[in-house]
Amino acid sequence: MEDTQHILSLSGGKDSTALALLGREELEANEIANLMLVFADTGNEHQDTYDYVDYLQNKVFKSVPFKTVKADFSVQMGKKRAFIQEHWKEDLVAAGLSEAEAEDRVAKALNILRPTGNPFLDLCLWKGRFPSTRRRFCSEELKHKPIDKQVIEPALEEYDDVFSWQGVRADESPSRAKLAEFEEHPTRWGLTTFRPILSWNVDRVFDMHRKHGVKPNPLYKQGMKRVGCMPCIHCGKKEMREIARRFPEEVKRISEWEAMVSDAAKRGVSTFMDARVTAKLLNTGTSVDEIHHTTHGIHAYVDWAKTSHGGKQIDLIAVAEQDDIPLCSSLYGLCE
Ligand code: SF4
Repeated sequence: MEDTQHILSLSGGKDSTALALLGREELEANEIANLMLVFADTGNEHQDTYDYVDYLQNKVFKSVPFKTVKADFSVQMGKKRAFIQEHWKEDLVAAGLSEAEAEDRVAKALNILRPTGNPFLDLCLWKGRFPSTRRRFCSEELKHKPIDKQVIEPALEEYDDVFSWQGVRADESPSRAKLAEFEEHPTRWGLTTFRPILSWNVDRVFDMHRKHGVKPNPLYKQGMKRVGCMPCIHCGKKEMREIARRFPEEVKRISEWEAMVSDAAKRGVSTFMDARVTAKLLNTGTSVDEIHHTTHGIHAYVDWAKTSHGGKQIDLIAVAEQDDIPLCSSLYGLCE
């Protein structure tokens, strides 16, 4: 029993909190001997989530070992700077830019490509783009790799068996429905992924919170469907509308990041939400030359999010709600 370590990734969302409560129950019942909680800080979380994780760490799970991990891209950014200095000007001139335009773009990229200490922003500066639903490198780089390198690998060195607990549920998506409760990793001796709440529904998740007197992340009562990045690249229309009216400072921050990441982009443009999708939603041109972060960035997506079905007409009810924010907009019926 002592040769087994259980590692549980906590995001500040409802599922991983319920999972951690289940883990603590098993620990207290002596069904497991070693449990460790880990939080991967993406740098793109809402302050309420940071506060909630702090509450979980220091109040709810204060007797359980807890580690926060953060990705660091300073090495990759240094290599990218060297690559830009060596190759970009020639490539950009070959692509049709004048010498002066190419030099300007190289200078902007070299100027902005320095570590800020924010993992999400540094990842996008290094890649010269934001992640997208088609190129979803964010969770891999910001969560999976740092947890793996900083927590799972050392645990595999120390223990015979490591169980990595995942708080996924089958009813979330068809792909999750196909997952197994236990999954061994043939290339990584001793590592098993364990998904104990796979068969749970959302009611059972919140029942687990109630059973232990633990309040869910307050963002669920503010219209957020999922708790993770603020916003997430998968953010839909209604959720973006809620974010824009409740947390305009987050939209402003993303807009500032768009200007920074555009400077680091070889094409000179990058947007948080997929610009081609935004262009289609706004019924504007979709060619590369017509897309810019100032016209197709997060503010444009927010404008579209305020429209009614079809995307052309401003939803007057939604606009009126801007000045009348209800205290609770939970999508999970959490409001008392
Ligand atoms: S929450 Fe969304 S944006 Fe953040 S890492 Fe996960 S997929 Fe990417």
